[in-house]
Amino acid sequence: MPNNMESESRKLLGRLRDTLAEDSAGQARLDRITHLIADSMQTEVCSIYLFRDKDTLELCATEGLKPEAVHKTRMRIGEGLVGRVARTRCMVNTADAPAEPGFRYMPETGEEIYSSFFGLPIQRLGEILGVLVVQSKEARAFTDDEVYALEVVAMVLAEMTELGAFVGDEGGMGALHTHPVLFRGLTGQEGVAEGHVYLHEPRVVITNPVADDPEAESLRLREAVDKLRISVDSMLARVEPSDKDQREVLEAYRMFANSRGWMRRMEEDIGRGLSAEAAVEKEQSAARSRLATVPDPYMRERLHDLDDLSNRLLRILTGQGKETGAEMPENPILVARNIGPGELLDYGKDLKGIVLEQGSVGSHAAVVARAWAIPLVIHAEGITTEALNGNTILIDGDQGVVHLRPEETVATAFRDKIAMQAEAQKRYAGLVGLPAQTLCGKHIALHMNAGLMADLPSLATSGAEGVGLFRTELQFLIRNKVPKRGDLASLYARVMDAAKGKRVVFRTLDIGSDKVLPYMKPQDEPNPAMGWRAIRVGLDRGGVMRMQLQALIRAAAGRPLTIMFPFVAQFDEFREAKAMLATVLESEGKLGHVLPASLEVGAMLETPSLAFAPDRFFEETDFISIGGNDLKQFFFAADRENERVRKRYDTLNYSFLSFIRQIVARCDQFDTPVSFCGEDAGRPLEAVAFAAMGVRTLSMRPASIGPVKAMLRRLDLDEVAAVIDQAAASGAQSVRKALSDHLAERGFVT
Ligand code: PEP
Ligand code: MG
Repeated sequence: MPNNMESESRKLLGRLRDTLAEDSAGQARLDRITHLIADSMQTEVCSIYLFRDKDTLELCATEGLKPEAVHKTRMRIGEGLVGRVARTRCMVNTADAPAEPGFRYMPETGEEIYSSFFGLPIQRLGEILGVLVVQSKEARAFTDDEVYALEVVAMVLAEMTELGAFVGDEGGMGALHTHPVLFRGLTGQEGVAEGHVYLHEPRVVITNPVADDPEAESLRLREAVDKLRISVDSMLARVEPSDKDQREVLEAYRMFANSRGWMRRMEEDIGRGLSAEAAVEKEQSAARSRLATVPDPYMRERLHDLDDLSNRLLRILTGQGKETGAEMPENPILVARNIGPGELLDYGKDLKGIVLEQGSVGSHAAVVARAWAIPLVIHAEGITTEALNGNTILIDGDQGVVHLRPEETVATAFRDKIAMQAEAQKRYAGLVGLPAQTLCGKHIALHMNAGLMADLPSLATSGAEGVGLFRTELQFLIRNKVPKRGDLASLYARVMDAAKGKRVVFRTLDIGSDKVLPYMKPQDEPNPAMGWRAIRVGLDRGGVMRMQLQALIRAAAGRPLTIMFPFVAQFDEFREAKAMLATVLESEGKLGHVLPASLEVGAMLETPSLAFAPDRFFEETDFISIGGNDLKQFFFAADRENERVRKRYDTLNYSFLSFIRQIVARCDQFDTPVSFCGEDAGRPLEAVAFAAMGVRTLSMRPASIGPVKAMLRRLDLDEVAAVIDQAAASGAQSVRKALSDHLAERGFVT
């Protein structure tokens, strides 16, 4: 390329943009572009390879190689130098291509006469779309200036590919994000749904990658960066000095926002003809490539910060906010990398399903999805880059499978499955008024878990005997500041009104762990699940717990009241909490409030330690509820949020069932009622096993009551207990198989 690189580069980009504007077919555009690049770079060869499918690259256009190789030459990712660029996402710049490790000669291309090779990835925000290659006979490495010019060109090609500029019938260039894609993830919550994609963080679309007026673009960039700096400064001003973590992140943001290097690189990109947003995205893509290769976790975090900051800058420049104004489509299915329970609650119950790239079965977002009875698939890798807002999507929570933009045949089969499930629901509806009475004559009380006012109508429709667990923290998670006592009191009163005299077990705030309140200072804890959470916070910061207890007493206004303290690990904590409640009752009485007609106070057994508490604890508590989600994670020492370890330990593990049996025996000794309110209570097989271990009250998501009741009514629990013990006697660690076989013999499909 001649000396005046910048203006030459701008000229080339201008020509590329003109090809984009021309009314020609995709292939013609590609052909023209390879010609323009070769001409401008003064190389004999320029080729564009794009992905045919996710593993195969195809030569889609070339200037200089044999034309008959176009759409014939293909290579797998990692194969040859082109495949290496695609796999490593790093450029290859060599004067002697045949001497490069991994070089593979493609005879149909006639490339043997070219010595030098320069290939670089065509990529957009972490998604690799293809490879751009220039070659020449002369054995020379390409200069830094040429490398840079081609990087800018590759960036524009990526944007053009994203915009569908190369789509056409000839040669089979398919548009991006239009084909059916199947994702195999994991079950987060059973159920099936059909709907449309609603992205939690929509992709930013850049329609103008090339710009004519570098000065105007630089000005736009500088103005946007100024806005960004101001917003980072004001965020910093709001952070408390003691909040070291958040400060550190924002300081890093500020450092990047003020970084001359970052700014200079973007201005240089603009000088070469990119628009301001394309320049931001180019640097962001480069940072993402670096991210993949950086081993140092601290540096990786910093690059993540840069990524976040670039996103903010892009939103400022394009006006596409996080809230893009994109309407929620009909039957929305939320697609996200990950999501916290608070953010999920913000979306409300209209969602028909959730698909996450990360996530975990034990997380509270999963708990919310379960409460809403909407299917959840986790670990659907790559879905946020593939899915577009509004795409048709089928989610099968039973199999952990997601069909994006499905073929009609798949959609039809899927609809049959939905219809079958609806049929089953109708059958369960017929059981609503009937008791969960087993064949051996035992009554199992089935209650429901709730956390929102919107859950309460399910009390009548599901046939639940009461609310066995009301998670009060959900109300705190959906607000930006601590709710007022009066608001809470009226909410709790409405819950009790809606329950129409049925018992509601109000669990006091269980915050901490993954339930981080937006307005709460995140604690610097290496292990939040085992950290300062639930009753530990309640006792140490008595103000909030006292306020909540007052709200509950005022809401009851003379009606019976049931309160449960979460995460009690030792008797003393329960005693202290009860003492706090006694003080509050006394002062409420003095203030003239009507006290509850009766008061039950219970504890959640979520750590093994409580099962071994002194006898007095069992005498003094009115009831115990086993919080199986937490209990299981501490019993097996397996983080409920870490899928890798969580799924190793089956709930139907004999060790765990024996422990449940011991807890029941201990409670029976003191006539202390015991229930199980973890998520497993809503899984029919698990529910049956708990009942066989002696648990007489189960609390679960409302949608599970039908299936659990249907199964219990057709079983003899003594037989089930015998099956479990025999399986264990034969050495089985998990009794799942034995129990499934037993149920299959009785006509159940498990
Ligand atoms: C549990 O741990 O089982 C429980 C019901 O509480 P949470 O899931 O809210 O921690
Ligand atoms: Mg818990």
